[in-house]
Amino acid sequence: MKNNGLLAGIVAGIAAGSLLGGFAPEAGTAVSFIGHLFIRFLMMLVVPLVVAAMVSGVCKLGDVRKLGPLGLRTVFYYLSTTALSVITGIVLVLTIHPGKLSSPEEQVSARGGLTLPDVTYRIEGNRLYLENHRLPKEFSASHTICLNDQQAVGRIVSHLRSRTEHFEVSGWRQKNGKAATVSPQGKGITIDRPLDERFSGEERSIVDILREVLEGLVPSNLFRAMAENDILPIITFSLLLGAVLSTLGEQGRPVIDFFQSLNEAIMKLVHLVMYVAPVGIGALIAGRLGDAGGFAGFLPELLKLGSYTLTVIAGLLIHALVTLPLLLKLFGKTGVAGFAKNTSPALLTAFSTASSAATLPLTVECAEEKNGVSPRTAGFVLPLGATINMDGTALYEAVAVIFIAQINGITLGIPELSIVFLTATLAAVGAAGIPEAGLVTMVLVLKAVGLPVEGIALILAVDWFLDRCRTTVNVWGDSVGARIIDRYANNMNDGAR
Ligand code: ASP
Repeated sequence: MKNNGLLAGIVAGIAAGSLLGGFAPEAGTAVSFIGHLFIRFLMMLVVPLVVAAMVSGVCKLGDVRKLGPLGLRTVFYYLSTTALSVITGIVLVLTIHPGKLSSPEEQVSARGGLTLPDVTYRIEGNRLYLENHRLPKEFSASHTICLNDQQAVGRIVSHLRSRTEHFEVSGWRQKNGKAATVSPQGKGITIDRPLDERFSGEERSIVDILREVLEGLVPSNLFRAMAENDILPIITFSLLLGAVLSTLGEQGRPVIDFFQSLNEAIMKLVHLVMYVAPVGIGALIAGRLGDAGGFAGFLPELLKLGSYTLTVIAGLLIHALVTLPLLLKLFGKTGVAGFAKNTSPALLTAFSTASSAATLPLTVECAEEKNGVSPRTAGFVLPLGATINMDGTALYEAVAVIFIAQINGITLGIPELSIVFLTATLAAVGAAGIPEAGLVTMVLVLKAVGLPVEGIALILAVDWFLDRCRTTVNVWGDSVGARIIDRYANNMNDGAR
């Protein structure tokens, strides 16, 4: 399909999907299975694509020693662009200060919690008594209580239902995590909405994440990694296999030829899947909007967190429309408009699937077929990028964490901001290329600066939408990277493809 025809089809699909899901949410939800079918087609291609593209890409390098400089350049590009995006996010969130714009009522309703401004409470040790007040049934265990006129928070472990409510609280601390002394009585409490269990077991530190990323590089069982679509260990295996094959001379030839034709065949399949992209993308958008209750359900949620959402989107736009294009022009010597147009099928797929991994087949196709990136660079840079290069995710994590601090009335100093900078970069590296992975690894950033993990509840309602925006920027960052790195690789090499 010609690029213009495909693009027009995708835009029409998005428009139709938005209208259907936005105005007829039930119909939107009903067609979402078509979108999931599209994702399955893409996911079906990911593992064979990574293996074939990596093995044949490494063999095409000609000399395995060239892998070192290529790898170093790639990692340098990933880290520096991710750092630039985090800095953009931090500067914006500190300037706009979205956490301050919300009134206390807005903050509570954003949390989805319960506020009891007039209730009188009494504290004895680790017990909290509410005078003449009963709570709704759902507030029964493991919620976070904040005392309104103090900076103290605590977690309910159990409560007895009686005329006078009585809670066991697992210790009072200040909102910055330090132990708090609380006055024996006061007025007004807030009870936050509990988080789902995805976040409760998240006790990993930075060292744990680093160790996991390193351990995750080496598969203990290649087939298990393949079965679980775990791309990083497959990359390691394919790199090593390609490197060894290229040293075998004639003996390695048949296997190299096999992977090269497998690569061609997979790319043909990707081509075929692109024909159904307009319908798949449209159905995914209709389904997701439908699940969110259509425009009527989703827009009020978005407006409630308007300044936060706008800060994240403004940061993503600056990174995507200013920083990356500048790099593309300066270091990739490539015109931005044409490059972006050629990449747009991948970008729109990223927006609709919220998964860099599922988008990978299209990212590779756009880079190789339309933007002329050599297969040996694309085959190496893009699979790695889909798993560890996440500019959008890193920016979003930094903005979200600082926003949560602002809502809680905590000012982060230069040392804390440096920690946010480092951990957000790392948490993005550790996030898998799947929907809402960044939301889970954000716990690490919150913990590193001593913020309550419960703060995530504040931003949950709009996360599915921001996930789509940041995934698009992740894929855009990978694509620009492939072009820039390819140019330097071509300068260094003989220009062979
Ligand atoms: N969904 C994102 C991706 O696949 C990761 C995230 O930020 O949640 O790139």
